[in-house]
Amino acid sequence: MSGNELKYINDAFESNWIAPLGPNVEQFEREIASLVGVKDAVAVSSGTAAIHLALRLLNVHPGDIVFCSTLTFVATANPILYQGAKPVFIDSEPDTWNMSPQALERALKEAESVGVLPKAVIVVHLYGQSAKMDEIMDICNKYDVPIIEDAAESLGSSYRGKASGTIGDFGIYSFNGNKIITTSGGGMLVSNNQQAMEKARFLAAQARDTAPFYKHSEIGFNYRMSNLLAGIGRAQLEVLDDRVRLRRLIFNQYKEYLSGLPGVAFMEELENTHSNRWLTALLIDEKGGGVSKQALLDFLSDLNIEARHVWKPLHTQPLFKNAPYYSHGENEHVGEALFEKGICLPSGSGMTMGQLFKVINSILSFCSKRKNYSGVII
Ligand SMILES: *Cc1c(COP(=O)(O)O)cnc(C)c1O
Repeated sequence: MSGNELKYINDAFESNWIAPLGPNVEQFEREIASLVGVKDAVAVSSGTAAIHLALRLLNVHPGDIVFCSTLTFVATANPILYQGAKPVFIDSEPDTWNMSPQALERALKEAESVGVLPKAVIVVHLYGQSAKMDEIMDICNKYDVPIIEDAAESLGSSYRGKASGTIGDFGIYSFNGNKIITTSGGGMLVSNNQQAMEKARFLAAQARDTAPFYKHSEIGFNYRMSNLLAGIGRAQLEVLDDRVRLRRLIFNQYKEYLSGLPGVAFMEELENTHSNRWLTALLIDEKGGGVSKQALLDFLSDLNIEARHVWKPLHTQPLFKNAPYYSHGENEHVGEALFEKGICLPSGSGMTMGQLFKVINSILSFCSKRKNYSGVII
């Protein structure tokens, strides 16, 4: 927490707005919209709910097809299943670890040739890193397919001067407890399409028609954000810039001390973009002289340091075993290779320098024991 949260929560108590609507919700929406530069924002109960609403707004129905980045958290794709639609997974490319434009183009070409284009493409910006949006937009525009940006992990990142999540037709953010700012749980849908956003408010509040009594003609959801949690969000938004600065600092320290290790490569930053570096992600290539990824994770775990695997590609998950998938190259499966080598290091904005250097030293000492590492332990 940043310290100002209680002030906004007290405002809610004093005005007795303890509900999934109220002044904090409206203010939080306005603040996010103005921060990222969109016409409208709708605060909801989770990032997952925001993705689900975006799919509804794009008229995704049972049997429809939705393209989706494969290297991501399952929450990106679950709403496709909620709608009874069929996900088709698109591989990553090596520069950004995000959606491969060439795999996307191949998939769209094939979809057009059989006469079933997807209703939407969901592009993820992994760990704060922007996907190659210019290329992806060009391809999607050619086939007239709308884009949902899953910017759950990239609030505070930018792509060629535009806020992450504001380039496609819809963007979503998450305020889950692990994200760069949090409301404990929550999300936001953003767009410049104000008509669609009015519809989102309607759908998120049980789709109640205008009538003197309770009248409903379509399925709605109970997806609005609580006025208390929106108060937390407003206070968190005040410290977003600090958080991004801290996360980038943490990333840069890891990179400075660890990038010289054999077989280690850090996630790059695409040119003309600014990543929030939500999590520090790196690759350890055992065959390229690095240590075993699992052995390192186990070693850190014994020291009570929680490092994690990167997301496991969704096309390799049992849940999606029948879903089609388009690889980056004919025999080049980038997402799978990233999963094989990728780890995320502790990156919380609340980390102390002592904690950060404990992680760095532990990794250095592990790697120096295992390989003929000649670096200096700090
Ligand atoms: C966290 C996350 C989500 C889901 O957000 P919730 O608010 O937890 O529902 C979706 N996509 C990605 C990539 C995420 O990291």
